[in-house]
Amino acid sequence: MTPTPLSSPVSVDIDLNARGKQIGHIRVPHSTHESAYGWIAIPIAAVKGDAGPDVLLTAGNHGDEYEGQIALLKLMRSLTPEQVHGRVIIVPRLNLPAAAAGRRTSPLDDGNLNRLFPGDPQGSVTSQIAHFVDSVLLPMTQVSLDIHSGGSSLEYLPCAFARLPADRAEQGRQQAALQAFGAPITIMVDRPQSNRTLSAAALAHGHLHLSTEIGGGASTRPHTQAIADQGVLRLLAHLGVIDTAPPPTSPTRLMRVTGPSHFVYATVRGLFEPAFTLGDVVEKNSLAGRIHFPEEPGRAPHDVHFSEGGVVVCRRVPSGVVPGDCLAHLAIDL
Ligand SMILES: [Zn+2]
Repeated sequence: MTPTPLSSPVSVDIDLNARGKQIGHIRVPHSTHESAYGWIAIPIAAVKGDAGPDVLLTAGNHGDEYEGQIALLKLMRSLTPEQVHGRVIIVPRLNLPAAAAGRRTSPLDDGNLNRLFPGDPQGSVTSQIAHFVDSVLLPMTQVSLDIHSGGSSLEYLPCAFARLPADRAEQGRQQAALQAFGAPITIMVDRPQSNRTLSAAALAHGHLHLSTEIGGGASTRPHTQAIADQGVLRLLAHLGVIDTAPPPTSPTRLMRVTGPSHFVYATVRGLFEPAFTLGDVVEKNSLAGRIHFPEEPGRAPHDVHFSEGGVVVCRRVPSGVVPGDCLAHLAIDL
């Protein structure tokens, strides 16, 4: 067993500090009608070899994003302690209740894990998971990768995604790691969606931290899966944790998202007809699409425009929209 803070009801049934390979569970107590003294069993593996860095790999932070879950399940099976210099801790389905339901958020408490850091040991199940990561897994590691995709509502051009650390030397280290991960695009985010993400928590712990947005639409494809599978290996090789990894197919294109003007939102309810495809280069004030009013067939559609120029790197997947839904967002070359 790995010690956890006294304030936390969460425990781990393997010793994450032991040498060798162990697979077990993070146990989050959850007393229900079906299971009075039960716990939620979140799979976790620790693979520890000789000297080297401690790396945390997570996916399923949002349950409907699959490249990372599949890549980490593969790694969990294949990685051996003889291959590893240092330690790799792998959690393929971090918000397990959400992942089991195929949803972004947990059906138990509607918790969006990536908006609840640093968590609360006495809070909801999802908040307890965040607190466990923040108080146990992040302090025992120095490097972390949290693998995301677009989920059910969004689809991305496959990219690595990173928020800039404040420190200049850290920025250089992060750039080198992002290049090594080798996604076709790397997007630097100036103003992230939230400061309560795993990424924000990892940076607060002084981690070298990377994230991704690989594909989306609650599915995975051969080319997006390969980016996740191989990117994880390339990052581990870059860190010196494993000796070899497949080379990237091309250098990563560095881009940035500067802020709200790169995002396009619906302001009315209806059916969105996009005027763009993912990867299009669009001009400032050009038409992004039209929102039709199926309940008022005689009413002219509402036009939506891009307020900046750039490359469409993310699009909404479902056609039905309500005010506040993100329809697309842009990035520009660094
Ligand atoms: Zn996500």
